[in-house]
Amino acid sequence: MRVGIPRTLSYFTLYPLVQPFFEGLGVDVVVSPESNKDILDEGIKETVNDACVPIKLLHGHVAALKDKVDILFMPRLVSLDGKNTLCPKFLGLPDMVRYSIKGLPEIIENRLDLKKGKLELYRFLFRIGRRFTDNKLLILRAIWRARYNFMHYRKLLLQGFTPIEAFSLLQKGHNAEVQPQKGQIKLAVLGYPYTLYDNYISVGLLEILKSYGVNVVTPEMVPKQELQRMSKKFNKNLFWYYSNCVVWACKYYLTDKSVDGIIHVTAFGCGPDSMTNKLIELETKADRKIPFLTVTIDEHTGEAGVETRVEAFVDLIKRKKGIL
Ligand code: SF4
Repeated sequence: MRVGIPRTLSYFTLYPLVQPFFEGLGVDVVVSPESNKDILDEGIKETVNDACVPIKLLHGHVAALKDKVDILFMPRLVSLDGKNTLCPKFLGLPDMVRYSIKGLPEIIENRLDLKKGKLELYRFLFRIGRRFTDNKLLILRAIWRARYNFMHYRKLLLQGFTPIEAFSLLQKGHNAEVQPQKGQIKLAVLGYPYTLYDNYISVGLLEILKSYGVNVVTPEMVPKQELQRMSKKFNKNLFWYYSNCVVWACKYYLTDKSVDGIIHVTAFGCGPDSMTNKLIELETKADRKIPFLTVTIDEHTGEAGVETRVEAFVDLIKRKKGIL
């Protein structure tokens, strides 16, 4: 049995949980290739025109997997923190894909809604496990293994590793003693995990920044309890989970005054981002010493254009700090 996992959207949040879980059940995990032009072009062909870039990309990843696997992992994600809801596109993902792409294999579309309680994550995994085996002990062992791996993953993120670096460290069996690279200046790069850590869609932004000697921090590197603390500083929060994480992470980095600037990476066609971007802009303007840059990505974004703007932004900050 081979289960296919699209290398986008919840991949950057759930992969370290579900990969050891499926393997613990004796199921082979097949991940779609890294995003590239062919995958995006295929996704654009399969999706409705007004979808955001990450959704178009997801369709391309599903198309790349559909003939190679027996079943696709595409759960209906409702809430990942027990309070906030994901963008409506996550809720309707299995339906959207099923009606857009013909000839799909079976889909694991179980609902994950942590508003039902903390144990819901384990119930969610258990229900999925029952599709593959009647052996309850095997499922419980696979859940335990998944939980252990996920805890290590979270520790690595809090140490300053990006999800991709953390995936690779976990695969090599490294422990959390390794230290991430440090740069001359520190920038908070805010955005959804599936835009920030997908090298193709973000046109390699994180790598470009590191090559300029920038220490990059992202929303995933902020402890959950700190994000919760920041949420209380707003009269009203947004509805959407990932958008709130971005806004709260912005508040966190502004409050602890540890960053020299903030970059918001926003996806063209994203409804929630029209509010998220404005909120971040207002927050950074309220703190007048922090330079702010918005980078909007769409299917036509070129590396050269982003590189020029980011280089100018970094130079400005380095001059301000007297490094240039
Ligand atoms: S939050 Fe925005 S980018 Fe993400 S799936 Fe929803 S519309 Fe698309």
